[in-house]
Order: sequence, then structure tokens, then C-alpha cells
Amino acid sequence: MVYKSILLIGVGALGSAFLQNSIGMFDKVGIFDGDVVAKSNLSTQPFYADCDPSFPVSKAGFAADKMRGIDKNTEYIPYEKYFTDEDFEIFSQYDVIADFTDNLRSRLVINDGCTKRGKPAIFSSLNDRELSIFFYGEDSACFNCIFRNSIGKAKEGCEAMLSLPGKNAMSFMMEKISLFLSGNLEPGSFCAFNLSNGNEIQTETMKDLECETCSLHSFKLERDGFIQVCSSGIKFSLHKQIPLYGLKDKLNGSRLIDNYLLYGKNGMSVLVSENGDFLFTNYSRKQAEELLASLFP
Ligand SMILES: [Zn+2]
Repeated sequence: MVYKSILLIGVGALGSAFLQNSIGMFDKVGIFDGDVVAKSNLSTQPFYADCDPSFPVSKAGFAADKMRGIDKNTEYIPYEKYFTDEDFEIFSQYDVIADFTDNLRSRLVINDGCTKRGKPAIFSSLNDRELSIFFYGEDSACFNCIFRNSIGKAKEGCEAMLSLPGKNAMSFMMEKISLFLSGNLEPGSFCAFNLSNGNEIQTETMKDLECETCSLHSFKLERDGFIQVCSSGIKFSLHKQIPLYGLKDKLNGSRLIDNYLLYGKNGMSVLVSENGDFLFTNYSRKQAEELLASLFP
């Protein structure tokens, strides 16, 4: 392999499947994810099948521990938080970045960081129709070049990812990623696997001269802290460490469980990590914003 270390961002269905199939490929693997293992993950993400989700277990921490148990020759480093533009410094510690997140917003943030640093990257995503993989390298088209005209129209995210794609789709993904990692697939390549008929596409892409990210145009990311709103809840990051003890006093009836604070009322719940990440369940975005405003005026 040309690349000896990799930073995986997102260990849901695709990321965890990649992880399990990557044994022996790297000296060092960073695992970035702010999510905790949910009951629904046990059936759709086999990697987590032996995890007990009755108390909060970080996906990144669980994945690193599990991989250390299987693979003694690779260093596994967990980052138990949602990825934001505050985390770009970590890129310098890895040869290649792999985006396996399930939302466009994170993908655009990661793309921004990689293009600014000329850092090679793999963007892998899944919707109900296809599994797609895009490879970025310095001077190639970037993720935004390719998708800037369809952003907002493409359906993706955790609602679409109800089950793991079949074995053929996964072996397609592993084959293409291995080719790229060994220098046998050019940056700028786009590959897709059609989930219903098994058709495969591979094509070269061109830079878009009007791209907001990699052209001379300036690109400003919104910094309101919202990561994603989807069926599993609302994910929000404060971009900083927070003292959970202090927050516990403000949220009547909340309880500390390891590195998390859990607060629940009337079927609604908020899970807060000490890294400043929030998962709101059964909250509307407005309700989540109101609660945040009352806690951090
Ligand atoms: Zn671009």
C-alpha cells in the first residue's frame, strides 16, 4: 500500500464494514465518530452485534477496542466526537482520509479540509439506489466539483441506510478502495454500484472551475453547530469540551453515565458527551434550539 495510515470518519454501516475488511492494510487507523451504538444498529451493522446498548457506548471507542482485539499489528486510535472544521489538524497525522459519514454536511466539511491541505481522500456513501465512491487527490476534482449541482436533490443519510448493502456491493467498495490505496486508481475517479441490478460504473471526473471549494471562489461553511437532522434524532456539536457536572445541575433529573450525561422527559431525551456533542431524540429542531439556548445563553 502507498498509504500506511488512514483516518476513518464515520463507522456506521459502511465504515464498520470497511474496518473489518481492512485488517493488515495499515500501520495506524484513526476512528472518528461522535455517535453511540443504538439498538437499531445491532441488526443492521453486524460489527456492533456483540455490543450492549443499554448504556451509552461510543461507536469509535467500541470499534477501536474491538479491532485491537482482532488485529495486534495495527494501532487503532478512537476520536469520540462528531467531526467539525475544528478537527482539521488531525489530518496531518494520517496519509489518507476516508469519509464514511451518512450526511452531506460532514462530507462538505471533510472535503473542505482535504482540498485546503491537498490531502488524499475517499468519499464513500450509500443511498437506496447505489453505493458510490469518489477518490480525491491534490489537483483532482474535489467532492464539491462533482456534486455541487445536485446537492440538495440527492437523497442520502441515515434514513436510507436501513440495511447493509449486499456482499457484492461491499466487495466492489473494497476492491476500488484497495486499487486507490495501492496507487492503481487515479484521484478524481468516481465509482458506483447499482444496488438493484448490480451494474458497475467507473469514470474519470474533471475539476469544476466554478467550484466554491477548490476554485478561487471563497467558500464559507456555516458554523451553527448542527450536524444532521434525521430519523435517529438531531446531532449538534458545540465544538468544545464541556463540564458535564455543571450541566447536570441545570438539567433536573439528568444522570451521568461514564462520559455522557443523559436527560429524558416525556419520551424525549438528550445525550450529551463531554466533547460537546448532543444527540436529541424526539425533539423538533426548534425544541432542541430552545433547550440549547436556555443551557448556553
Ligand atoms: Zn472542487
